Amino acid sequence: MSIVVMKFGGSSVADADKIRAAARRAIAAHEKGQQVAMVVSAMGDTTDDLEKLAYQVAANPDKREWDQLMVTGEQVTISLMAMALRDLGVPAISFTADQIGMVTDGVHTKARLLRINARRIRRELDEGKIVIIAGFQGVTANGDMTTLGRGGSNVTLVAIAAALKAQQCENYTDVDGVYTADPRIVPTARKLASISYDEMLELASLGANVLHNRAVEFAKKYRVPIHVRNSQNENQGTLIVAETAAMENIVVRGAALKDKLARITLRHLPDRPGVVARIFHVIAEADIVVDDILQTVNPAGRATVSFTIDLRELNDALTVCERLKNDFTDLEISHVTDLAKVSVVGVGMRVHTGVAERMFKALADAKINIENITTSEIKISCIIDREQGPEALRLVHDAFDLGTGPLKETRKRGKKRAGRASK
Ligand code: ADP
Ligand code: ASP
Ligand code: MG
Repeated sequence: MSIVVMKFGGSSVADADKIRAAARRAIAAHEKGQQVAMVVSAMGDTTDDLEKLAYQVAANPDKREWDQLMVTGEQVTISLMAMALRDLGVPAISFTADQIGMVTDGVHTKARLLRINARRIRRELDEGKIVIIAGFQGVTANGDMTTLGRGGSNVTLVAIAAALKAQQCENYTDVDGVYTADPRIVPTARKLASISYDEMLELASLGANVLHNRAVEFAKKYRVPIHVRNSQNENQGTLIVAETAAMENIVVRGAALKDKLARITLRHLPDRPGVVARIFHVIAEADIVVDDILQTVNPAGRATVSFTIDLRELNDALTVCERLKNDFTDLEISHVTDLAKVSVVGVGMRVHTGVAERMFKALADAKINIENITTSEIKISCIIDREQGPEALRLVHDAFDLGTGPLKETRKRGKKRAGRASK
């Protein structure tokens, strides 16, 4: 019997009517003879509200207790969903992460899933029930509750789909699919029929929060195709799938904006081997994710190292950097908090040139200063002033004709230059 796993994000379960609508969608699949598992998020803005509450009682909330609080949002939705399903005449049962053994490591607020015990879910599905699972949460081997990072219900969706070897993995949200850019910022953005795992992974990491990057990572690893679609209509959404040869004909598939970045600068460092290794060892030990790194050396032989991080991690990162003063006596630490990153992504960059030039020109024409540039084989990112972020996104989106140009994957032209970005 085929299995479908459906995830409903916060906006799709924001009130009682939406919960009942989501329940009816699950029932429609159940009536077709499919086994149905649902992953649900906290209702509407619940998680944001819980975060605000935490900051009202503590300036720097304890991370274990933070997770203990955050998981309550999803717990409300699972039970309401099970009640709604039963009321509509279908047997249903809800589970928290600890009840089904969604085991993670102990890194609170951004835990990684280690294993899932899908036996209980399978048994309930075999008995004909719709199974509802709380997204975003996990449990450590010691029984402490954890969360997988904001937007983490996507990760739960893909992990459950992989564990159940589901035939369908559906992500129901408040837009029709994955667009060439966030449609809330770029009104001319267009929905993509499909996108490769690698492109989606870059876009998600670079700010397209329609999916969590770790969800895409899992999907690629376990070959789970994800269908992103709107919970409010029946339209075909976007399929996230393995790359096909034709995909390289599109140079830029999408653009993204990552907001709320901060940069820490460490000055008066000695210019000798091992210094950068030491700095990023202590940063990594504190589980802080570093976005990009810049190092310069002045004529006097002193080095300056700057790195960009998520604004939410600034306090933790500054605390860790203070400790480095024990290693480097002259160390001077400063930071800025008003940065953003605008990026373009496409597997076609491997075989087409001129992308960087076009992007830089679009920003230069609008007098947007580029503070730093990073590239990979399939993306180019520019760090800019946060205030100019939305305008920059619209400009680069236009510069690559993403709102108007042909988006068809036609016959492949040109030769692939193996392992080298051509940009
Ligand atoms: P949910 O409530 O389903 O969890 P989210 O708010 O987490 O929904 O994610 C959906 C939002 O992601 C959309 O409303 C949209 O503003 C944003 N988004 C950012 N980039 C993109 C993109 N490239 N395509 C579609 N949506 C995007
Ligand atoms: N409720 C969590 C959040 O708002 C997880 C999720 O919705 O994916 O980030
Ligand atoms: Mg979400």
